[in-house]
Amino acid sequence: MHDHDDDHQHDHDHGHDHGHHHDHDNHYSDMQARVKALETLLTEKGLIDPVAIDAIVETYETKVGPRNGARVVAKAWSDPDFAEWLKRDATAAIASLGYTGRQGEHMRAVFNTSDTHNLVVCTLCSCYPWSVLGLPPVWYKAPAYRSRAVIDPRGVLAEFGVTLPESKKVRVWDSTAELRYLVIPERPEGTEGMGEEALADLVSRDAMIGTAAAGTRVPT
Ligand code: FE
Repeated sequence: MHDHDDDHQHDHDHGHDHGHHHDHDNHYSDMQARVKALETLLTEKGLIDPVAIDAIVETYETKVGPRNGARVVAKAWSDPDFAEWLKRDATAAIASLGYTGRQGEHMRAVFNTSDTHNLVVCTLCSCYPWSVLGLPPVWYKAPAYRSRAVIDPRGVLAEFGVTLPESKKVRVWDSTAELRYLVIPERPEGTEGMGEEALADLVSRDAMIGTAAAGTRVPT
């Protein structure tokens, strides 16, 4: 069971994998070669500044990471009013912590409960909540994950080491350029009285995509 947006629009500002392969006489992959060619063209036309591009990439590689999302989750666990706000208007609640995406990017927080587990995918490409999770892992962009997360979410989860009881419902959320999802995992037992920073330590990137439970440390 999964939810699809009827108008799954993409702004094509990020990597698309068209499932084919070309040989190049250089060390670039297909995608790297295309990105490089585009960057060179745009720079020559004076439309972009490569220094600015490098700064943006560096920001998402080193400064913005899953710690942002983990703080959102820890606050939701600790503050019921914030959790309510997050359910109602995740874009605003997340922005209140200083984590804002590019214009037009909306966030939705999906809460795991005792009877529902949420899993996030982008079936068309690699839409991902950069402002709270940084750059997506390689497997998130892989065709195998993108197709199988929808067809066989339980099988995919089992491969990630997450085994769910049959009674638990799995909802799969298909991201778009306009709407991106953050999974709020269930708060682990025995964490009563822990502060937000300590709670945030328990929240891995994968837990916020839905391929892990909170409290499980997953190498990134
Ligand atoms: Fe996408």
